[in-house]
Amino acid sequence: MNEILNMTMNEMAGASFDCECGHHHTFGIEHLAIGKGTLPKLVEFAAAFKDRPVTMISDNHTFEAAGKKALQLMEDDGFDVNSYVFQTGDGILIPDESVVGRVMMELRPGTGLIVAVGSGTLNDTAKFVSSRTGIPYIIVCTAPSMDGYVADGAPLIREGKKISFVATFPYGVVGDTDIMKEAPMRLIHAGFGDVIGKMTALADWYLAREIAGDECCETCVILVKRALEKVVDHAEGIAKREEEAILYLIEALMLTGVAMALVGISRPASGAEHMLSHYWEMDFIAKKKFPELHGIKVGIATPIIAEVFEMMEDDIPDCVQDLSPSREEVERLLSIAGAPVLPSEVGIDRDLFYYSMLNAYTVRDRYSILELAVQKGRMEEIAEKITKRIYGD
Ligand SMILES: [Zn+2]
Ligand SMILES: [Zn+2]
Repeated sequence: MNEILNMTMNEMAGASFDCECGHHHTFGIEHLAIGKGTLPKLVEFAAAFKDRPVTMISDNHTFEAAGKKALQLMEDDGFDVNSYVFQTGDGILIPDESVVGRVMMELRPGTGLIVAVGSGTLNDTAKFVSSRTGIPYIIVCTAPSMDGYVADGAPLIREGKKISFVATFPYGVVGDTDIMKEAPMRLIHAGFGDVIGKMTALADWYLAREIAGDECCETCVILVKRALEKVVDHAEGIAKREEEAILYLIEALMLTGVAMALVGISRPASGAEHMLSHYWEMDFIAKKKFPELHGIKVGIATPIIAEVFEMMEDDIPDCVQDLSPSREEVERLLSIAGAPVLPSEVGIDRDLFYYSMLNAYTVRDRYSILELAVQKGRMEEIAEKITKRIYGD
């Protein structure tokens, strides 16, 4: 029935099973190689496309981290690779029209495979181009910074606005933990924040099941919960870059992706904490400010949403209460991992914070604790209290 719960992560590639939730789930990614020293698997996964040109994309950071080695492995094996390296200096690449366009221009006629070496932006760009051209892509992950490796959505910036495009799953994912654990600490903290966000995301999923009658797959809840617990138990190791802690973090980011892919929605990974984060991000982008890394914002939003759950405790079912974390616990985890805790730490001012509390529920049509607070007429009082606690009177 739910045999996926007994599989190792790499065994999940191509999984297909009847689930207790009544649905038949399939996981459409052909190849997964997550673990120590898995980079050479790239050549094995790409073998089916050896007779055609390959385009590899990276930026100056990710080329150094993994691209150079990946290119060498493919060329030594006889692949015809056009490697394009975005030069960003010390800055980071923003996935907008020019980046997507540039990748299109690097595709030679008859290209059989795209290999993206990177994390957020390069992954999203390759995913989008792959979905529109039909050319499969393999992602070589360079940082445990978000849960979008095993996902089919591509958030991109168009005319200064972030849009979530429906794209496609990768053909293969190569996550060599020897490479990923060397990522800049800020990216590791971002991944940690994105995983910590599952604490409130899962509580929101139960809430939506109980109150709004949404479908909820218990197998996926278990998959995410188990991975989350390991990360929580090793939060201290994140700050010290301990190998085990980083491995659990990578595993949790990938398994969350698997859970989303199985149910075909982002429910297992994203609840009210993502809406709050998204609201801040839209404001930052509109003001042409650096929008901060996704997971950093999600991490900061999580204790705030946990506090909303606490304030709404009389209105929520017991099973939701059991699953929702306390604000203190989430704040403790973020701080022992060394990640930012307060919205003021990333430039979210009092006004933006207050209005985000009132309006974040409108970001998407998804039932969450914020919508319940609005329905019960409590949102303003909650927004005022939390704003005062964080920013003072
Ligand atoms: Zn996320
Ligand atoms: Zn299911």
